[in-house]
Amino acid sequence: DDQIDHKVLNQIYPDVQYADANLIQAIDEDNKTINLVIIGHVDSGKSTLMGHILFKLGRIDKQHMHKIEKISDQYGKSSFKFAYVLDEGEEERRRGVTINVGQSYFQTEKRQFVILDAPGHQDYVPNMISGASQADCAILVVEGIRQEFLRGFIGGSTKEHAILARSLGVTQLVVAVNKLDMVEWSEDAYNEIINHVQPFLLQIGFRQDNISFVPISGLNGTNLIEKPTSLPELTSWYTGPSLIEYLDQLKVPKRNIYKPLRVCLYDYYKGTEGNLIGDCVQAKVESGIIKEKDHLLLQPYNIMVTIKAIEASNQLIKYAAPGTLCDISLHLPSSFDPNYLKSGNVICDPKYPIHQVKEFRCQIVVFDIEIPITRGQPVTVYSFSNRVSGRISKLESVVNPKTGESIKKNPRCLMKNQTAIVHIKLEEKTCMELFSNYRTLGRATLRDGQRTLAAGINIELGQKQLPL
Ligand code: GDP
Repeated sequence: DDQIDHKVLNQIYPDVQYADANLIQAIDEDNKTINLVIIGHVDSGKSTLMGHILFKLGRIDKQHMHKIEKISDQYGKSSFKFAYVLDEGEEERRRGVTINVGQSYFQTEKRQFVILDAPGHQDYVPNMISGASQADCAILVVEGIRQEFLRGFIGGSTKEHAILARSLGVTQLVVAVNKLDMVEWSEDAYNEIINHVQPFLLQIGFRQDNISFVPISGLNGTNLIEKPTSLPELTSWYTGPSLIEYLDQLKVPKRNIYKPLRVCLYDYYKGTEGNLIGDCVQAKVESGIIKEKDHLLLQPYNIMVTIKAIEASNQLIKYAAPGTLCDISLHLPSSFDPNYLKSGNVICDPKYPIHQVKEFRCQIVVFDIEIPITRGQPVTVYSFSNRVSGRISKLESVVNPKTGESIKKNPRCLMKNQTAIVHIKLEEKTCMELFSNYRTLGRATLRDGQRTLAAGINIELGQKQLPL
C-alpha cells in the first residue's frame, strides 16, 4: 500500500519530477525511517542507554570514545562515559546555537532511526515536548530498581512524559526496564514494574499491541543489540527480543504525501560552514514534498522564501518527503529580519496556506491536576512546534469522552480527568491545523508554569487566512 500514486502527486505538485530517482529515493527512505524520542525520569539512564547503542552500532568512532572516556574520568564518573556520547556540546559549537533537541542516527536491519534527544537542562519539559512532537515512536526508560522506579513513577516525571508523548501523537512505545544488573536480573522486579506501567499506559490511550517491555542494562550493554548468551540470571526467564529487535519491529506511520505542503520549523541558526550557509532552519516535513529552489510561503509572516539547500542525516538531499527531519538553508526577502524565524513557523504551499489563528476550540482531557481549571486560566499552548502564551477564554462543555456528547454546558470549572470543550485565546497569531485534517499538527497541549494541565485536539480554528 506504499505505492506512490503518480497521477495524484502530479496534480498536487505539477512541477515535481515525480519520476525523478531522487524523489523516489526520498520517499523510500521515509518509508523506513522512524523518528524516535527517548523519555523518562531524570537519571533513569536515557543518555547512557542511547550512547551505548550508538557505540555498539559503530556510530561513534574509537577516537571520540577515547576522548569521552578521558573527560568522564576527569569528572571521576567513568560510568557516565556513554552518557557523554550524546552531549550536545559539539553540535552547539558547530552551529553556534543552543540545541533544544539533538539528533543522532542509526540503522537496524529494516529501519532507519533518527534519535531525538532533549538535553536534560533544568527546563527539560519544553525540550522534551519539542522532541516528542517530532517523534513517531518513543523509548520510555524506567528504573529496574524498585525504590528508584517508584520515585520516578509516583512523584517523578515518568507519567508526565508518557502522557505528553501520547498527547503529542506518539502511538508506539518501547519500555526499557533499565539497571536490572543492580537487582541481579530479578524477574519479580521486572514484572512488578510492568504491572505498574502497563495499566497506566493503556489508561492514557496507548494500545496494547503498540507497547512492549524489555529488560536491559544500558550501562553494561545487556540485551541492547544481541541477546545475552551467558547470563542465566536473565535468560532463565527472558527469551524475548532485544531492545533493537523491538525497534526493528516498529511500524512506520502513514505519511501525508498527498496533502498540501507543511514544513514545521523547530529552530533558526546562521550556518557558517558545510553545506548550509547563511539563514538556516531545523525543520520537519509533515506533509507534501519540498525540493531545492522551491518558492514557498512562510507563515505567519506572509512572505515568500526560496529553498537553497536541504540536508538530512548530514547529507544534502534534493527532495524531502513527509517524515523527514531536515536542515534547510533559505533565501529570505532582504526586508525580513531573520531573527523573527522561530519554532512554530511553517513553510507551506502558497496555494494552500496553513491556518493562522488567535483563537481556537479544543477538545481536551484534563490531567491529574490538584486545582480545577476555571475560565481565564493562563496557559502555554504547545501545538507541534509552537509554544505560545494564551488563556482559556471559555469553558464550553464537559463531554462524554467516548461519544463526545455534551454532559454539562458552561461548567464553572474543569476537574481532573474530565473531557471538555474549551476555547483558547492566544497572544499572537499562530499557525494551526484541525485534527481532522492533520493528525500530527492538530493537537494542543496546555501547560501552566511547571505543570501540564491538559491535552487535546483542535476542532475549530478562528479566522482563516485567505490565499495570497
Ligand atoms: P539520564 O538522566 O536518564 O540521561 O541518566 P544517565 O544516562 O545520565 O544515567 C544516570 C546514572 O545511572 C549514571 O550514573 C549511570 O551510570 C547510571 N546508569 C545508567 N544505566 C545504568 C544501568 O543499566 N546499570 C547501572 N548499574 N547503572 C546505570
